[in-house]
Amino acid sequence: MRQSKLFIKTVREDPKDEESLNAKLLIRAGYVYKVMAGVYAFLPLGLKVIKNIEDIIRKKMIAMGGNEVLLSALQNRSDWEVSGRWDSFDVLFKFASFYSKNDYVLGPTHEEEIVPIMRQQIASYRNLPAYFFQFQNKFRDEKRAKSGLLRGREFIMKDFYSFHASEKDLDSYYDSMKDAYSEIFNELGIGNTTYLTLASGGTFSKYSHEFQTLTPAGEDTIHICDSCKAAVNEEVFEDESLRQEFAKEGPVCPSCGKKDLRKEKAIEVGNIFKIKDKFSSPFGLKFKDENGEEHNVMMGCYGIGINRLLGAIVEVSHDDKGIIWPESVAPFKFHLIESRKGEGEKIYNSLVADGFKVLYDDRDIGLGEKFADADLVGIPWRLVVSARTEGKIEVKKRNEEKTELFNYENIRKF
Ligand code: ATP
Ligand code: MG
Repeated sequence: MRQSKLFIKTVREDPKDEESLNAKLLIRAGYVYKVMAGVYAFLPLGLKVIKNIEDIIRKKMIAMGGNEVLLSALQNRSDWEVSGRWDSFDVLFKFASFYSKNDYVLGPTHEEEIVPIMRQQIASYRNLPAYFFQFQNKFRDEKRAKSGLLRGREFIMKDFYSFHASEKDLDSYYDSMKDAYSEIFNELGIGNTTYLTLASGGTFSKYSHEFQTLTPAGEDTIHICDSCKAAVNEEVFEDESLRQEFAKEGPVCPSCGKKDLRKEKAIEVGNIFKIKDKFSSPFGLKFKDENGEEHNVMMGCYGIGINRLLGAIVEVSHDDKGIIWPESVAPFKFHLIESRKGEGEKIYNSLVADGFKVLYDDRDIGLGEKFADADLVGIPWRLVVSARTEGKIEVKKRNEEKTELFNYENIRKF
């Protein structure tokens, strides 16, 4: 893509109404536009990163047997009354139609919708297990929305729901989802700083597992075991029954029992729960077993916050000049910069013909300004062509200082 056609301007100064580092950088580099506190629009570069993140997750969810759906954002009050969450879900956006006066919910999560759908689909053990997922805008009336993309009032979530005939089947599926999630965070380039963390189950279940990414911007505190890479959320020690079960003598590793844990700030990027029959029971989602006996369907649910991931990646991967994208999610692989108009044209066309994603800075501005923008925007490989490079291409990785000259043939192998 030609940068002259991107139309999005970068900004040198931090936006005044923004406290969080991830939002400051994403706004300055032209990835997002702040609509209001906790609500961001994705501009072309931002959308490319979002799609890359979603594609990595989608592939794994399909490999886990998931069928992709897209449920409605607008939901019924009556379904939220059946689940009992009309009054108890603390950040629920509720509103009444101006015309009909009917009450609605803007979905903060989708158990209240997927379970009635599955009631039409599941009748017998032969229909189980079943797996559905989606990428959807969720709405939550968060009291505090000051962490930029980490905590929004509208945000994209990947939510996945599994339906099982037995708790045993749910248990083994839940364990395989842990592995799938770890693989996802590795692929997203934050595997080193993301920990499988024992956490409370909230209103769903006794406990759950979170995937927590270490960052000072995080709102949670976790205790990490460096030998097994497992962690416990501090909230576990504060919950009396969980403390009795998992942490009687203070923080211990949930995996090996080691006591010497490291305390860190972190942000929850994913959360998996065994919700069992918490929803199937009130909604009457049942199946008949081999003997014709009826049972409640057992459920698991598995979330990942897409906006939050975007923000978390920026929090863990940046320097004082701007963002440093992991290659797997970067909007482009190469940022091609020319010093004089037209110098990069041939290389740009060749790279595009060879199937690479390239942002070509063909703008009529100084080289210094182009370099500053390249650092801010954070594309992994910077390629420079100028009279100085004498037919070769100067290559610099965003996260390294050194520059090297290469022929086009070498660059094709990157
Ligand atoms: P938190 O404790 O941070 O409020 P949660 O536990 O209520 O989050 P879940 O219901 O588990 O969130 O949602 C699944 C995932 O959606 C979370 O792991 C997180 O990545 C993301 N998420 C939740 N709330 C928000 C939000 N307000 N903004 C952005 N992402 C969010
Ligand atoms: Mg959670």
